[in-house]
Amino acid sequence: MSDCPTCHQPVPSQAIVCPHCQTLLKAFGHPGIPLHRTETDAYLCPSCVYEADDTCTFPQRPYARVCTLYVSQQQQQAWLAQGNRPRSSARPRLGPVWWIALGLLGVSLVLALR
Ligand code: SF4
Ligand SMILES: [Zn+2]
Repeated sequence: MSDCPTCHQPVPSQAIVCPHCQTLLKAFGHPGIPLHRTETDAYLCPSCVYEADDTCTFPQRPYARVCTLYVSQQQQQAWLAQGNRPRSSARPRLGPVWWIALGLLGVSLVLALR
């Protein structure tokens, strides 16, 4: 269980939409793609590791209030303190779901043009 960022009610960790207030919690309707959002009026980017290392190329930077790839600098420091490697060594890029979707689109185009 985790808490909804909007109504702060407990919600199942796999929930795509908050059952209490209908806030969208996951991206692209997939339970494995978390959707990070601000809980205040502040933007996400100033506290994101991808802003700090200047590797983000998302168009919503630096004014993102919702983002699929947000990693807080505090989370990163805790992660590193546990002896892990930095998570921001690679720039934000298309995930496997998008590559599969693009592949299917390409195959569809080829079949349509035959
Ligand atoms: S990954 Fe998202 S939150 Fe982080 S800098 Fe880029 S747009 Fe902002
Ligand atoms: Zn809610």
